[in-house]
Amino acid sequence: MTGSTNVSNFRPYRGRIAPSPTGLLHLGHARTFWIAAERAAENRGQLILRNEDLDPQRCRPEFVDAMIEDLRWLGIEWTEGPDFGGPFAPYTQSERGVLYLAAWEKLRDLGTIYPCTCSRNDVMQAAGAPNAGDDEPIYPGTCRPQGSIAATVGLRSTGREGAAVLTYDAPAGVNWRFRVRNGEEISFDDLHLGPQRMVAGRDFGDFIVWRRDDVPAYQFAVVVDDAAMQITEVVRGADLLKSTARQILLYRALGLKLPEFYHCDLVRDENGVRLAKRHDALSIRRLRELGWTPQRARAG
Ligand code: GLU
Repeated sequence: MTGSTNVSNFRPYRGRIAPSPTGLLHLGHARTFWIAAERAAENRGQLILRNEDLDPQRCRPEFVDAMIEDLRWLGIEWTEGPDFGGPFAPYTQSERGVLYLAAWEKLRDLGTIYPCTCSRNDVMQAAGAPNAGDDEPIYPGTCRPQGSIAATVGLRSTGREGAAVLTYDAPAGVNWRFRVRNGEEISFDDLHLGPQRMVAGRDFGDFIVWRRDDVPAYQFAVVVDDAAMQITEVVRGADLLKSTARQILLYRALGLKLPEFYHCDLVRDENGVRLAKRHDALSIRRLRELGWTPQRARAG
């Protein structure tokens, strides 16, 4: 048929902003979140706010209130979020434990993740130095099963395991890592930065999906949530490009539909250092006190 478009793949645009309340939002967040808001508006779509508060050691409730206030001041509008709910509530990650657990069980039963008893220090020492910046270091493979993971982590349904095989009904107590295929290429077309290509085992290794202190890892929770909330486009900073490659592997393993990705250029300080929450001087709060307008902050 000429002139027809394939409407079966059409999904109304749904974007999201997903700050972690580990500190005050800074100029880099303002820029990225404003781009996310603009793209949602240009596409006549929805923008969702998700509170990524999973890490109890780093997240604080006062930063949740502060981020909502700062986002409003910036002029960013969302239609679903922790403040007024929506069809995919709750929008606060610490309240979404059942979804993460179900996805963990699925990965466990598929034999794509394995338990690991290494501490972060063990990994850092074995790996030499961490990857770029604060990225998760490449795992040297100490606990990685060589053959089938199912032979090591008992799949109760098969009933074929010997007595030595451990079964896990819950993730807590060990780290759970996703076993990558060394040398596998992961490529995607970034809507802003163009074609991207990463190689498993070189750009990242077996990565953690669930921490031994019973906290789902960022890579994993963000995939479960973006898929469950039917996000069609993920807008975030270019510092997360390698994370996107890991996440694509999780989407595939879980059989979930991939969103599009738009990675924003990073805002740097006068010395060329990427802005992070520790740059308190450039927090949106501070800039407000200095008399900045929302327009100026949004421009980064
Ligand atoms: N909570 C993550 C952060 O603040 C979100 C990253 C993302 O957008 O996927 O870095």
